[in-house]
Amino acid sequence: MNKEVIILGAGISGLSCGLELQSAGFRNVRILAKDFPPNTTSDVAGGLWFPYKAEPISRILGWSKRTFERLMQLREQFPEAGITMTDFYQFFPKTRTESAWWASAVEEYRPLDKEELPEGFQGGYFARVPIAEPHIHLPFLMERFQAQGGVLEERVVASMEEIVAGNRIIVNCTGLGAKQLLGDTEVFPIRGQIVRVRNNGIKRSITCETAEEHSEYATYTIARSEDVILGGVAMTNNWETGVDIGLVDGIIDRCSALEPALKSAEILGHKAGLRPGRTTVRLELERLSPTCAVIHNYGHGGSGYTVNWGCAEEVCSLAKDL
Ligand SMILES: Cc1cc2nc3c(=O)[nH]c(=O)nc-3n(C[C@H](O)[C@H](O)[C@H](O)COP(=O)(O)OP(=O)(O)OC[C@H]3O[C@@H](n4cnc5c(N)ncnc54)[C@H](O)[C@@H]3O)c2cc1C
Repeated sequence: MNKEVIILGAGISGLSCGLELQSAGFRNVRILAKDFPPNTTSDVAGGLWFPYKAEPISRILGWSKRTFERLMQLREQFPEAGITMTDFYQFFPKTRTESAWWASAVEEYRPLDKEELPEGFQGGYFARVPIAEPHIHLPFLMERFQAQGGVLEERVVASMEEIVAGNRIIVNCTGLGAKQLLGDTEVFPIRGQIVRVRNNGIKRSITCETAEEHSEYATYTIARSEDVILGGVAMTNNWETGVDIGLVDGIIDRCSALEPALKSAEILGHKAGLRPGRTTVRLELERLSPTCAVIHNYGHGGSGYTVNWGCAEEVCSLAKDL
């Protein structure tokens, strides 16, 4: 593969595409990015495998399934990759008769019995799912990419024209940055905010559906190896990246109503970030000149860690066909 590859973006999408393209035999792969870990949106994430706020479901399901499989393989092969497993519970205020739409993507799944539901909830699911802990996983991916000859370059790209060149493949993994870079009006921020507390033995992770009148709340807990992530919010079209301390008590109260041990847990920090929302994930090829093409891969919303390997495989197969 003698084509030159330029990847824009060094979050979970750009790094996994970099490694996937290297594995497929592309030898000349460079990542250009404004920010690298630990300063990307991907560093703010909980890293839980769970499809959330990304469309369309028909494509998300396939990508999520592949990502689940790849994370299980990575976990087995590289204990240092920061991938752990968690017992994941999802609670609903009303009874659910149908299975979760993502159920076929996971290995262990079942509906919850009535006795397993906290007060105020009538339905729910259980699944055992992976977490790719960003503060370990992103450096792991970045180091592997470099060890395999990949080059990292800090650079802001203001327009695609800047980087169009012959015999070159560009992979656009700029997340929310694609809005400005391409003038893509379908891209929008979904603000998130989390509280990190010390994990004193909590093993399960929880998410629950919130009543309509609290549609900006997204209540969830993610039990990682050393901390628990308490979320949160999902504020559409809110561009504020700073932490709003006024939200913290509400987040802790809602999470500890589901997991009482969290109420007294030591707070380790706060983070806020903007999920790269889009009406639908954009994963497609666009020709920029007869010998230069861009493969877009952005707009993964709240599912960057849930679809990254499935998307990277599809990007790679488009690149190989060029
Ligand atoms: C609070 C919170 C919790 C979350 N929890 C989860 C979770 O548990 N599970 C999950 O699956 N997802 C979660 N997400 C969503 C997840 O973080 C995103 O889907 C994911 O990070 C998107 O990754 P990305 O690589 O596409 O984009 P980003 O991580 O945003 O990376 C974009 C990259 O592009 C670069 N860039 C942008 N524009 C330019 C430009 N013009 N020139 C050069 N470089 C540029 C940036 O510098 C950066 O390197 C969460 C998000 C938030 C905010």
